Amino acid sequence: MMDVMVREGVLGRALEREIVQIGVHDLRDYTSDRHRTVDDAPYGGGPGMVMKAEPFADAVAAIRSRFGPPDAVVLMSPQGRSFSHGEALRLSRLRHVTLLCGRYEGVDERVRELVATEEISIGDYVLTGGELPAAVVVDAVARFVPGVVGDARSVDDDSFVRGLFDHPHFTRPAAIESHAVPDVLLSGHHGEIRRWRKREALKRTLARRPDLLDAAALDGEDQVILEELKNRVRGE
Ligand code: SAM
Repeated sequence: MMDVMVREGVLGRALEREIVQIGVHDLRDYTSDRHRTVDDAPYGGGPGMVMKAEPFADAVAAIRSRFGPPDAVVLMSPQGRSFSHGEALRLSRLRHVTLLCGRYEGVDERVRELVATEEISIGDYVLTGGELPAAVVVDAVARFVPGVVGDARSVDDDSFVRGLFDHPHFTRPAAIESHAVPDVLLSGHHGEIRRWRKREALKRTLARRPDLLDAAALDGEDQVILEELKNRVRGE
């Protein structure tokens, strides 16, 4: 699963160019019994199976001795801290991050206590395994590693970077049925285009996620535009 997800597109090219390195480790390689058992029945009874702690501990010990100590050992868990733009940025500044993926009913509590240094959730819902959450984290983190996204400006303009949504994007054709590309984008007037994009980013954030504006990095021009947009909403 992980191989397929990380070897495509932008991330795949970054791996080929060795800007980032990703190692996928199978917990079954860190078992000692003939059946390579990674799960067992829960103490106290109940449905499903629980992933054993030792394969996680042994896998992380092997990673530590082969690649040096990870800067963070993150257990993917719906009970963890919510993953966000800020969390992705924080992890992107670390040299070596190990992500632990659970399955079944979850992992033995000792993995949290003894192996993981933190827990991250990708949202308030439960998936069947930690592989998709880990791929989400890998993708979002890798975008901040210099050189992964060809033009760094596209990362800088993205939603959440300044605490705002990105402005709308258009490409050819100039009209689809009655939906035309805004004239300003065809004008070639860079100053006007920049102002239009600023205004649209603010308008969109105000309409959809006004809570983001409290922590957004707004310059003087943004503040003037925002005030005008708010007045318009109030009908002034
Ligand atoms: N019984 C657990 C609970 O309610 O907290 C859920 C276990 S879930 C079925 C199996 C594994 O999927 C978890 O151990 C975790 O690694 C991963 N997982 C599921 N949802 C996740 C989420 N929202 N964020 C991160 N990891 C998640």
